Amino acid sequence: MKVIDKIIESTSSGSTGKPVFSFEFFPPKTEEGAENLFERMERMVGHGPTFCDITWGAGGSTAELTLEIARRMQNLVCVETMMHLTCTNMPVEKIDYALESVKKDGIQNVLALRGDPPRGQDKFVQAEGGFACALDLVEHIRKSYGDYFGIAVAGYPEAHPEVIESNGLATPEAYAKDLAYLKRKVDAGADVIVTQLFYDVDNFLKFVNDCRQIGITCPIVPGIMPINNYNGFIRMTGFCKTKIPSEITSALEPIKDNEEAVRAYGVHLGTEICKKIMASGIKTLHLYTLNMEKSALAILTNLGLIEESKISRPLPWRKPTNLFRLKEDVRPIFWANRPKSYITRTIGWEQYPHGRWGNASNASYGALTDHQFLRPRARDKKLQEEWVVPLKKFDDISEKFMKYCLGQLKTSPWSELDALQPETKIINEQLASINLKGFLTINSQPPVNGAKSDSPSVGWGPAGGYVYQKAYVEFFCSGEKLNALVEKSKAYPLLTYIAVNKEGNLISNVGKNDVNAVTWGVFPAKEIIQPTVVDPSSFLIWKDEAFEIWSRGWAQLYPEDDSSRSLLQEVQNTYYLVSLVDNDYINSDLFNVFKDL
Ligand code: FAD
Repeated sequence: MKVIDKIIESTSSGSTGKPVFSFEFFPPKTEEGAENLFERMERMVGHGPTFCDITWGAGGSTAELTLEIARRMQNLVCVETMMHLTCTNMPVEKIDYALESVKKDGIQNVLALRGDPPRGQDKFVQAEGGFACALDLVEHIRKSYGDYFGIAVAGYPEAHPEVIESNGLATPEAYAKDLAYLKRKVDAGADVIVTQLFYDVDNFLKFVNDCRQIGITCPIVPGIMPINNYNGFIRMTGFCKTKIPSEITSALEPIKDNEEAVRAYGVHLGTEICKKIMASGIKTLHLYTLNMEKSALAILTNLGLIEESKISRPLPWRKPTNLFRLKEDVRPIFWANRPKSYITRTIGWEQYPHGRWGNASNASYGALTDHQFLRPRARDKKLQEEWVVPLKKFDDISEKFMKYCLGQLKTSPWSELDALQPETKIINEQLASINLKGFLTINSQPPVNGAKSDSPSVGWGPAGGYVYQKAYVEFFCSGEKLNALVEKSKAYPLLTYIAVNKEGNLISNVGKNDVNAVTWGVFPAKEIIQPTVVDPSSFLIWKDEAFEIWSRGWAQLYPEDDSSRSLLQEVQNTYYLVSLVDNDYINSDLFNVFKDL
């Protein structure tokens, strides 16, 4: 979706009236840095930014990396992504390559920039076959791609640094020329302006007013850079020739060597700047995070725009932003803890289920590849620490599963998530007890009969709604345990199960096309949404992945000749994977069936 449409939607009269916010990131230099960035981004995106953007390295130095990060942001982190694109060193073929790539990845937003002069030069030089300024780029995007892209451009409240003179000011003529040029960028098709950082709010408000006076009507999104450390602040404001009001200098001078005090002041100042901007009626804030999380989130918390403990969830799983899967609102429950794997296995679908799951046998999942088993290094290390212990008997295995359910382990080979889902805490004791009996759980949800949609543990969807779910548990167990469970379940007519082993032997009491909605929500002025289903066809696809994790997710963490590997292999080769639903969501009795087993 275009950022302009998101801004209009969230700041229009029918909305909450709260200002919206966005975060800027830059491509880290190392692979490890990129992994850390994605972890941080995951957390920050949970607070619901309208969009996030990723910069284009000076002179095109990070072109491929920026494209890759943008692709992951849009498709795996699932945040509306705006990619910066500059003209420096970019003949039109390279520009088109970048635009085609993001378009293919379902990204719809670009911040069109001229870019700074290539390293070692002080004047911008047009690349051969390239563009001279951002205006050319905006015109090119509109001419070649029509309305597909939402285009943002840069605005400079104190004028562009190139026209700021040694006294720190631009002449009124240069400022007016800059403004007139900004209007040309908007007239050529830009629909949002994002500003250069500033610390003089009055000057920014004057700039907005000046823009309005010459007929610029689009949103002007103020760029806020929290001060994180003194030297960085001096370097950045020097580079951008940003005016520093004297009271900020006076406040910083005495504390400049105390990093913590500088950061606290940065949060205080950022909060005050945003308050003043918001008081003027502007409802958009863009935070230059410098890839750091704390200051940006602290400012938004101070402003009451986020609650650190409350993550908003439009659906039980993170809603996609990729243009091609915007309508998707139903998924099988099996990948609940492996959403990235689900996305990569369904990325080529021509249509995504909407409203209901539809004809399950049509769903053609991508084959399992190495991709589904890639893990960030930090997670790999944590898994090694937590899961690689000598395994001598089956109880050693069940103990790991039990500890994970109790929150005593932070990682699981079967989960890509940072922690257990909040709702798991409701049933973690019961889960722990069945794990100890040899039912090794990898997915679950408690029953819910009409909880408010803003419930911190089970809520999702728009405000004022009610959510429901059937109790669900998914686990590995031996054939013997499965037989006992099947026998016992005869006394529980509302239990439905599908069990399958690695070879594909199926034991089930549901039809192969019986799709079971296990989560649904009722919201004001909306049809019922049923975002999670249990469907046998997808389960049979999922089981290959689930069984494969025994070897590729766990056993392979051990040295090759370690005897623990053979125990894990035995489980993998002999156990069943079982999906169990208690359809009585009002008087659920799911865990009773495990009693005495
Ligand atoms: P332009 O809009 O082309 O303008 C540059 C200057 O030239 C202005 O003073 C303008 O008035 C003048 N000018 C240009 N053409 C004309 C004309 N035809 N007539 C009259 N005046 C003209 N840099 C990066 O390398 N990567 C990034 O990711 C990046 N992100 C940025 C994000 C934001 C929000 C901002 C504010 C800046 C960013 N920059 C980035 C820096 C930016 O590339 C530089 O400031 C660059 O020098 C100018 O880019 P621009 O798009 O503003 O250029």
